[in-house]
Amino acid sequence: MVIFAFIFFNCKDNYLTLPSMKTFSLSLVPEIALDPVLLKEHLRTHCLKGTSQDFEFRKTKESIDGRKGKVVLHIDVEVYLNESLPPLLSDIRTYQLPAQAPQAILVGAGPAGMFAALRLIELGIRPILLERGKDVRARRRDLAAINKAHVVDPNSNYCFGEGGAGTYSDGKLYTRSKKRGDIRRILEIFVQHGATERILVDAHPHIGTNKLPGVVTAMRESILQAGGEIHFNSHVIDFLLEDDEMKGVVTADGTSWLGIGVILATGHSARDIFYLVDQKKIQIEAKPFAMGVRIEHPQAFVDQCQYHRPDRGLLPPAAYSLVTQTRHKGTQRGVFSFCMCPGGFIVPASTAPGELVVNGMSPSRRDSYFANSGVVVSVLPEDWAPFVPEKGPLAALALQEKVERDLWQMTQQLVHPGKEQMAPAQRIGDFTRKRISTDLAPTSYQPGLISAPLHEILPDFIAGPLSEALPIFQKKMKGYVGSAGQLIGLESRTSSPVRIPRHPDTLEHPQVKRLFPCGEGAGYAGGIMSAAMDGERCAEALATRWLNS
Ligand SMILES: Cc1cc2nc3c(=O)[nH]c(=O)nc-3n(C[C@H](O)[C@H](O)[C@H](O)COP(=O)(O)OP(=O)(O)OC[C@H]3O[C@@H](n4cnc5c(N)ncnc54)[C@H](O)[C@@H]3O)c2cc1C
Repeated sequence: MVIFAFIFFNCKDNYLTLPSMKTFSLSLVPEIALDPVLLKEHLRTHCLKGTSQDFEFRKTKESIDGRKGKVVLHIDVEVYLNESLPPLLSDIRTYQLPAQAPQAILVGAGPAGMFAALRLIELGIRPILLERGKDVRARRRDLAAINKAHVVDPNSNYCFGEGGAGTYSDGKLYTRSKKRGDIRRILEIFVQHGATERILVDAHPHIGTNKLPGVVTAMRESILQAGGEIHFNSHVIDFLLEDDEMKGVVTADGTSWLGIGVILATGHSARDIFYLVDQKKIQIEAKPFAMGVRIEHPQAFVDQCQYHRPDRGLLPPAAYSLVTQTRHKGTQRGVFSFCMCPGGFIVPASTAPGELVVNGMSPSRRDSYFANSGVVVSVLPEDWAPFVPEKGPLAALALQEKVERDLWQMTQQLVHPGKEQMAPAQRIGDFTRKRISTDLAPTSYQPGLISAPLHEILPDFIAGPLSEALPIFQKKMKGYVGSAGQLIGLESRTSSPVRIPRHPDTLEHPQVKRLFPCGEGAGYAGGIMSAAMDGERCAEALATRWLNS
């Protein structure tokens, strides 16, 4: 079989900087780009003019382009002639605190809190990290309890515990941020703590839910060995405020924790913290977010659509991204796919009994039979307007809570007692035709599915735009609405329904000095990478505040 490398351009030579090193940018068919032996031959023949010298090479960038009906890989390659590959990490960070370091309080050990802790150590400040949940290992048992016994521990679940919502997440490391230096820095810290070097290369890096606990554990060890502290089972229930200045926090066991500043990084599901902020009359505001469903298909269907071939061969399981605008009952709303998990699983992401929330994740190999993605609808101020008189700035949060609880209650009427985390589901074609599914497709959702009329039990502002959007998605991905795909409710924790305001430069709350609202829960991040970057920024702002005071 002859395989043609049909495009080949920009053999850029770095001769001036390092005679033995060259870089090339190539666009190749997958059969060459993904086969190290064929790729080496290609480099030798086409880029190195048939050289007989020994050389080693590695990819520094790789992206897959499946547009225009054919698949091309765009890759950057470094070649070292007669030399071994140098380390890929530009810098190995060491973490060590001076003996007399002042201490700062961090609430929440998600990506924002953990990256803030590491950055504070670099800046000479001792992080005291308070986390309501358990360490990654103990947390695993509570996840099994949700999946098998349908029991949700409000302090230890898919969102709460060491590493936050990021630990048993998918570990996709995409961000819309354009700050390349900051992105590279976060990725390198992940690699230093055990993530694969591939994340420095892939255009869409991914760690995988099976690898994340090890990475999080290694980050914890860096914090502890440097002299920082992490306290699990430490649920913050109160703030220590003096004259509009944050002095520290109080945990449920009655302990007071004092510090030179407080970074509040409690994530989008810490509703009690939002209520506490409001109750203390600390300014907080409602913000738009999105709600909808998870949609699950066989992975083979997605591969076929995206790669235009029956067998994906060496290519990784394919992803998709869909977006459209709808106008339901005169209101324009975006409907978009969110957090797509190729070769993944749908998981129960509720944080308290009596609510129904699903999310998605995948292992590093992405080798599940299924593909799933959130498909969500923009939630607008007019949707939460009825809650404003009673709930004020927490009106959007109240709406989110109500939809989750309503869906859970309606599902309870269909399931046996003790099956509280079974999720309502409907085949996509039945949803668009407004009829209940007589049977459901196989699923990755471990607590199980129950056929339910989602077109009726979802609020109209979600069901209406969804039923308009799905036929549009069908035009973009033929077969999307076919019988193999089904909707599973409810995907409601896409981002925070509140924002805790902060000064754009100092990152301090406008009313409360030394309070640094941080990460996804405060409304400044949407995903692992942006939460990690925001954690670092808050650590730097806190250190600057301390140096200037
Ligand atoms: C199943 C799943 C899959 C996901 N997949 C991806 C993905 O592939 N890629 C991606 O970018 N994002 C993904 N996400 C989202 C991502 O995990 C979050 O955006 C990210 O973790 C937010 O980071 P954070 O540090 O701001 O908050 P969180 O990760 O939510 O961490 C907040 C922490 O604060 C703790 N806390 C809350 N209240 C208190 C309190 N009162 N006292 C003490 N501690 C408290 C919580 O226990 C938690 O550990 C996924 C989320 C889930 C649930």
